[in-house]
Amino acid sequence: MRDTSAPRRLLAVGLVLTAGVATGPAAALARPSTPTPGSAGLGDRLFPTLGNGGYDVQHYDLKLAYPEKDPSQTVSGDVSITAVATQALSRFNLDFAGHGPARVEVDGKPARFSRDGEELVVTPRAALQAGRGFTVTVKGFSATPEQPDPEALYGFTVTPDGTALISQPAAAHRLFPSNDHPSDKAGFAVTTDVPSGWAGVASGVRTATRSGHGRVVSTYRQRQPMATELLQVVAGDFVVQDRAPVGRVRVRDVVPRRLAAQQLPKFEAEREQIRWMEQLAGPYPFDVYGSLMIDVAGNTALETQTLSIYDSAVTSLPPAVLEPTMAHELSHQWFGNSVAPMEWSDIWLNEGHATWYELLWAEREGTLEENTGFPTREAFFQRIYALSDSWRAESGPVARPRSAEELADLFNINVYYGGALALYALQQKVGPAAFQRLQREWATVHRGKSASTDDFIALASRSTGRDLRPFLTAWLYGTVTPPMPGHPGWTPAGDPAALKGLRLNK
Ligand SMILES: [Zn+2]
Repeated sequence: MRDTSAPRRLLAVGLVLTAGVATGPAAALARPSTPTPGSAGLGDRLFPTLGNGGYDVQHYDLKLAYPEKDPSQTVSGDVSITAVATQALSRFNLDFAGHGPARVEVDGKPARFSRDGEELVVTPRAALQAGRGFTVTVKGFSATPEQPDPEALYGFTVTPDGTALISQPAAAHRLFPSNDHPSDKAGFAVTTDVPSGWAGVASGVRTATRSGHGRVVSTYRQRQPMATELLQVVAGDFVVQDRAPVGRVRVRDVVPRRLAAQQLPKFEAEREQIRWMEQLAGPYPFDVYGSLMIDVAGNTALETQTLSIYDSAVTSLPPAVLEPTMAHELSHQWFGNSVAPMEWSDIWLNEGHATWYELLWAEREGTLEENTGFPTREAFFQRIYALSDSWRAESGPVARPRSAEELADLFNINVYYGGALALYALQQKVGPAAFQRLQREWATVHRGKSASTDDFIALASRSTGRDLRPFLTAWLYGTVTPPMPGHPGWTPAGDPAALKGLRLNK
C-alpha cells in the first residue's frame, strides 16, 4: 500500500479543498459504493504513512489542559475534527503518537477504536457515505512533552518556561490526533486551560479568555487554513506583548516572562519586514503575526503559523544575522504556510523562497557580506552554482530530496540554497519584473491551499506566457545543474569549502 494510488489521492485532496463540500468533485463522489477502510497513509514519497486516506478535514477544535506549572508535565486533551468523506468509509485512521484516548465518537455516537503504532484506527457504528460531512471527537488523550535535543529541536518540546511546538514535518500528531500531512489544511480553534500566572497562546487570533478558580482558559482561532505541522501552541510562564499593528495585521510577540526586557527589543524589525514583504509578495495572508522565543540553546527557527519560533541561540545572533532569519520566517507565511507544500518533496517551494527573501533583506540592509561572506547576491549565487552539482549528487535534485530518514536529509542544503539558485535562474531567464509578478501570483492563486512543484512550473509558464517546463524541470529535477542564463562563464566546480552563515534549521 501507500503506492501507486498515492498521487491520485494527493490530487483528490486538493480538488476537494478547492471545490468545497457541496459541489464539484466532492459531490461527484457521493454515489453509493461499498464502504472500504481509508488508507493508513497518503503515500507521500518521503513519509508514506503520514496523513490518512478517505476523508478531508475541514476544521479542528482542539482543547488542551495543563494541570500544573510544570513544563515537563503530561498534557491532556480532546479534539473534534470536522471532515468530509472522500470515499465510502467502513473505518478510517488518524495519526497519533500520544497516549490514550479514553473515548472516540463519530457524530456523537461511540465508535470502536484501536491503536496501531502511530495510527489511531476508528470504526464508526455505521459506514460513512462518500461526500458526507462527519465529526470525529477524540476524548481523553494525553501527550508527554519531550526534553529538547539541542542538536535537533523537534516535536512537543519542553523549555525551562513551558512547552512549545516545533512539528515540521511530522510531529504534530505527537501532541494530538490529526490528519498530519500538509496536503490536508484546515481551520483551527485551540483552547488552552492553564494555571493562573501562566499563558497559553496558539496560532491565530485570541477570541476568548476566561479566568477563575486558579485557571486561565484561552481560545485562539486560525480562520485561514493551516497545515497541522505549522500549528503553534505555547503554554507556560510567557508574556504576550502587543506591538502597533501594521495596517490590518495585528502584531504580538511571546517571550519568557523573566527574559522579556532582554528579548522583546530583538524583534522590533518585524513590523518593517511585514510592510516590506507586502510590497514584494502582496497582502500578509493572516490576521496576526509575531515572534515566539524559547530559552533553549539549539540552533532552530521555524515559521509556525502567525507566530514564528526562535530558540535562544538564534536570538543571540547579532541583529545583522538575526534579522535576515526573521525575514526568512516571515516570508514563509506566504511561501510554505498560506501556500503549503502538496507533499514533502515540494519543500524547496518553502525553503528556496524563504532563502531568497532572507538574502533580499540582508542586501537591503547592507548586511549581505556579514551573512554570506559575499558582497553581492550575484557573487553569492556564483559560489552556490559552483557547489550545486555536488549537492545534487549528495542530497538529490532540488525538488526530489533523496530521503527523509533524518530531518537533515529533508532539510538539506540543496533544498535551501539550490532552491534559491533555481529561483535566481528563473529571474535571470524571465527578468526581475516578470519574476516578481509570478511571486505575487503564486501567493494569490494558491492562497490558503496546498500546491506542488508542478503547480509552480505551470503557473510560471502561464504567468510569463512562455513554456518554462523544460527549463524549470531541468533546474528542479536534473541531476546536473543547467547553464545559468546570463552567466555563460559560470561552471559547477565542486569546491567543498564551507559557506558562511549556513544554518539550515529555519
Ligand atoms: Zn525555512
